[in-house]
Amino acid sequence: MFVSDCININEKGHLTLGGCDTVSLAQEFGTPLYAFDEEQIRQNARAYKKSIDDNYGGNGLVLYASKAFCCKEMCRICNEEGLGLDVVSGGELYTAVSAGFPAKKIYFHGNNKTAAELTQALDAGVCRIIVDNLTELELLNKIAEEKGVTADILMRIKPGIDAHTHDFIRTGQIDSKFGFALETGEAMQAVKAAISYKNINLAGLHCHIGSQIFELSPFELAAKVMLKFYADIKNETGVELDELDLGGGFGIKYLESDEPIEYSEYMKSVASTVKECCSELGVKVPFILIEPGRSIVGSAGLTLYTVGAVKTIPGIRTYVSVDGGMGDNPRYILYQSSYEILCANKANEERSLTATIAGKCCESGDLIQENAPVQQVEAGDILAVLSTGAYNYSMASNYNRIPRPAAVTVRDGKAKLIIKRESYENLTENDI
Ligand SMILES: *Cc1c(COP(=O)(O)O)cnc(C)c1O
Repeated sequence: MFVSDCININEKGHLTLGGCDTVSLAQEFGTPLYAFDEEQIRQNARAYKKSIDDNYGGNGLVLYASKAFCCKEMCRICNEEGLGLDVVSGGELYTAVSAGFPAKKIYFHGNNKTAAELTQALDAGVCRIIVDNLTELELLNKIAEEKGVTADILMRIKPGIDAHTHDFIRTGQIDSKFGFALETGEAMQAVKAAISYKNINLAGLHCHIGSQIFELSPFELAAKVMLKFYADIKNETGVELDELDLGGGFGIKYLESDEPIEYSEYMKSVASTVKECCSELGVKVPFILIEPGRSIVGSAGLTLYTVGAVKTIPGIRTYVSVDGGMGDNPRYILYQSSYEILCANKANEERSLTATIAGKCCESGDLIQENAPVQQVEAGDILAVLSTGAYNYSMASNYNRIPRPAAVTVRDGKAKLIIKRESYENLTENDI
C-alpha cells in the first residue's frame, strides 16, 4: 500500500511506524522529526548478512555505509547485528569509535583523506583503509613507517561501468573523482606501487559503481571486470589478492513505481558470477565485502513536519509550507528526488490535493516535492515524508540558522530519542 513496509494506519486513521502513532510522536518530540523503525533496520541488516551466508558460505562481511545515516545509536545497532562499518571521514570514524564500535570492523573510505585522518585511522586500528590515489598511498606509507606499523589497504578501482543512475551519484565510470582507472593502466601502476611499499599491505580492491541502482547486471559486470583484473595482477606480479569489496548502491522504493531488487537475489547472482569467474581465470575465491547504506536505513525512516501556510495560486499551484525543508532534506534541491507524502492525521483520506510541499528557508528552490498528491491539508496537520532514512539527517545543514531536527527510533510501540534536537545555543556555541 505504501512505499515503505513499516508504515500502517491505526484505528484513529493516523499513520503508524513501528507500532507508534506518528501524530503522537510529533506531539511528544516536536517537528520536524526523523523517525526510524528499528526493527526494519535490523531486518535489512540481517537480510544482507543472510544473503552472504546462504549464497557465499559466509565468506564475506556486510559493511553498513554510515554516510547514509551516522550517529552513535546507528553504530550500536550495526554492531549488535554483526555488521562492519564503512566510514568516509574522521568525523564518522570518531562517531563509530565513540559508540564503542570495534575498529577491526571499520573500513575507511574517501577520495581526499588528510594526513590527520590517516593518522587517526591508524591509531584507531581500523581494519582497512581504502586508498583512492597515489598521493594518498605515498602519504599513508610514510605515516605508517613513522609509526612502525603496516597499513592494511584496499584500493579503489573505477571499473568503467555506467550504472544508469543520476549523474551526481554515478561513480564507476572513467570521468569520476574516485579511484584509479583500469583502462589507462593507472590501476595496474598503483597496484605495483602498493606492493612495493614496505609499510603497506595490499589485501584487495574495491569498487562502488553508483547509488540507487535497480538492476543486477551492473553489479555482475563489475565483479567480472574486477576479477579479470585480479587475474592480470596475478600474471604480472605473482600476487594473489584475497579480498574483493563490491561497494553498495542498492536501490530502494521512493515511489510506488520503483522496483528494487531483492537483496537476497543480489548476492545469489553475484556470488555465482564471482565463483564462475574465479574458476575460469584461475584466481582465489575472494572474501567479499558489500557496502549497503541507503537500503539499510532509507525505507525505515520518515520525516514528520507540521503544516503552516497553505497558499493556492489560482490556475498555477498550491503551496503547502512545512516547518522544515532543505536544511533537513536537501535531496530535492540536489537531485529532484521523489517522495511519497501523506498527511499523518488524515491517513485514511483520499489524496485528492496536488500540492507543492515547500520548506521554510529563504530560497525558492527549497521544496520537498513538487505537485505531489496529498490529502486536503490545513495548518496544524502533520505531514509524513516517507523513505527519508538515508541521506537526510546525514546531509542536513543549518542554513538560515535553523536547528537540525531530533531523531527517534521506534520499536514495539515505544519511541526512543537517539539524537536531540539542536538548540539555538548549539547554533552559536562555536561563534566567537
Ligand atoms: C555511498 C557509498 C556506499 C553506499 O551507497 P548506498 O547507495 O547508500 O548503498 C557504499 N560504498 C561507498 C564507497 C560509497 O561511497
